[in-house]
This record gives sequence, structure tokens and C-alpha cells, in this order.
Amino acid sequence: MNNTATVYDEPFTGNPMNYSEDKSKAGEYLRLVLGYLAKYNQPASPVNYTVWYEYVSGKNRKLKKAMDSSIESATPITDKNMERLYQKFVADGDRIVISKLLTKINLMLREITGHVLETEGDFSGHGINLKGLSDQIQEVQDYEGIKHIVDLMIVETKALVKSGSTLQSRMKISSADLQQLYRELEKSQKEAQTDALTGLINRRGLEKRFELERIRAKQNNIAFSIIMVDIDHFKKVNDTFGHLVGDSLLKGISHILKKQLRRNDIAARYGGEEFLILLPETDLAGAGAVAGKIQKGLSTKEWKLKESGKSMGSITVSMGISVYAMNETGRAMIKRADDALYMAKNTGRNQIVTQASLRG
Ligand code: GH3
Ligand code: MG
Ligand code: MG
Repeated sequence: MNNTATVYDEPFTGNPMNYSEDKSKAGEYLRLVLGYLAKYNQPASPVNYTVWYEYVSGKNRKLKKAMDSSIESATPITDKNMERLYQKFVADGDRIVISKLLTKINLMLREITGHVLETEGDFSGHGINLKGLSDQIQEVQDYEGIKHIVDLMIVETKALVKSGSTLQSRMKISSADLQQLYRELEKSQKEAQTDALTGLINRRGLEKRFELERIRAKQNNIAFSIIMVDIDHFKKVNDTFGHLVGDSLLKGISHILKKQLRRNDIAARYGGEEFLILLPETDLAGAGAVAGKIQKGLSTKEWKLKESGKSMGSITVSMGISVYAMNETGRAMIKRADDALYMAKNTGRNQIVTQASLRG
């Protein structure tokens, strides 16, 4: 179904919202979570709390492993790292939406098969395999899987309607219903891959697009660059003006990023205040020019508080750029952009560093 390699590890497959532990266990987990928050001097933000909860309950094995290895290697447990862990191992709206859609499909399918059995007794004569579909649903894991099932249902119900005389009028589920379901599915899929705050694609949406572009670059031997963008001293913005202002600043910056891009470029919200821009058919020099335009767009923008009209001062970003090297993984390419970004931060911020400046 989904056989393209993903850039990141498979996300946690449980339901993150399902914390219906029994009371004594929940109390114990809570005590442990608070202990960890205190130990690592972290605020009890929803993200920190959730990550530690997943950790102490031990159900999220991948997250536990990642946390354990951070602890062992004495990697600082910062808010930023917690956010990364959350995005990577916990945030998983897709699964919830998928399971809702599957329930709907199952009901529809039952409706169809019920009617067929009632009217015809047997539907094998139509070459229709609704029962087989029912089995296939058990295997569905992702949107592509659901789409495939709905496609088959559309084909099969059409065949049914064509062949069945009495059936057509009696069957409550029509092709139109299925088409509607399909549209719903596409909408949910889009929503699940969109960042609600900025309207950019989120990390989940990014995975697929990144792989697609990487493979396209590889197969056609064309350049493909990425820019990792991180807002400078964003914490200070939150601390000075509050999180809501921070949020609207994120929106404003996303807008500026998008404005500088061509139709085939993609800007994604990579993490809290980090963005990743995919630039297909673009080499390092081209990517540098895009980054320069972003920097200029930001420098000429005057940020003001909505209510008082007071100036917020200048907002800058640091950027790291890498270009695809034949046969490398997406992860390796991102690492180079990240290293370049790190260098940009360490050498004064508000600047653009390409992988050419990295040693080794
Ligand atoms: P640097 O120049 O080194 O990048 O400094 P910084 O303060 O931007 O870096 P750091 O990564 O330490 O802090 C990022 C802050 O971004 C911390 C976090 O509270 C904030 N942040 C992350 N996501 C959001 C969000 O969605 N909304 C708001 N308002 N703040 C966010
Ligand atoms: Mg950051
Ligand atoms: Mg920052």
C-alpha cells in the first residue's frame, strides 16, 4: 500500500488520547510525571506532560527508547527536544480520523451486503466480492488504504446497480454516497497534513512530499535543495509579548515564507518555530537566493502589536541550506541543513549558511 520509504521512523500507533487507565495506576503515573518534570526543571506544559506520561506508562515503546537513550547519553531534556519527541512519537491525529472513517465504511458495507443477501440471496454471480472487501478493511492502516477500499466499493456498487433489478431501488447506499465519503476522506487527509495555526503543511504532510521530491531528484538527476528556517530568539517574543502574539507572529512569518516561493516549492512547519522549505529543481545558489529573499522580506516588515500599535522590533530568522547528494537518505540531507542552521545560530543569527560552509 504505502511502500515508499519514509524519512522518519514510523510514528507511535496507539491512540494518544486514550488515557483511561484505572485510577490507582493513573495516580502513580501522575506522581512519576511530576517527578520527572521537577527533576528536569520543566514547566508542566501539555507537550511535556504528555511526553512524560507516554514515557512512564511504558506503552509507547519507541518514545520510551528515544527518551532512555537521551537520558543515558545525558542529552539535555529541553523543551525543544520534548517538542521533537512529541511530534515524532505522539502527535498522531491521522489514526483517529482513519478509525472514524473505517467505522463509517464498515457500516456502509454492511448495509450493502445486507441488501444484496436479502434481495438476491447470493451475490457471487455478479463477480462482486463485498465480503472480500470486508476482510481487506481489517488491514487498512492509512489514507491510501482507505481510498483503495472506497474505490473498490464504488466499482462494486456500480456493478451491483447495473446488474440488480430490484436492488437499485432498495439499496440505500448509492454511488453518490460513496463519492461523498471519498470527498470527506480527501478533506480529512488534507486537514491531517495541514498545520492548523499557519496553514502550511505539517511534519506528517512533509514526510511524503519530501520523499517524493528526493526520489524525483534521484531518478532524474536534478538538483533538489532544502532550507531549514528557525526564528531567532523566539522565546523572547513569547516572554515579552505572550504566547498569543508569538502565535500570530508564526502566522505572519509563514505568510512571508510562502510569498517568496514558486508554485512547486513547499513550505512546511517542521516543529514549533522551525520551518522546512523544499525547493525542487534548485541548486545551492538558487536556494541561497530564495533564502536571501526571505531575509529581505522579513527585514522590511514592521511588526506591530495589534491593540496598542506598538512596534515589536525586528524579527529575524537563521537559515541552513543543503542540496541532495545522490543516493543519500532524506535524514542525511536534513542533518546537513540542520548543521548549517546550527552554524548560522552560533555565528550570530540572522544569516544564511549553506552546507558548503560545513567542514568534513
Ligand atoms: P534561537 O535564536 O536560538 O532559536 O532562540 P529561540 O528562543 O528561538 O530558541 P528555542 O528553540 O530555545 O525556543 C523556541 C521557543 O519557541 C520555545 C517555545 O516555547 C516557542 N514555541 C514553539 N512553538 C510555539 C508555538 O506554536 N507558539 C508559540 N507562541 N511559541 C512556540
Ligand atoms: Mg528552534
Ligand atoms: Mg528559534
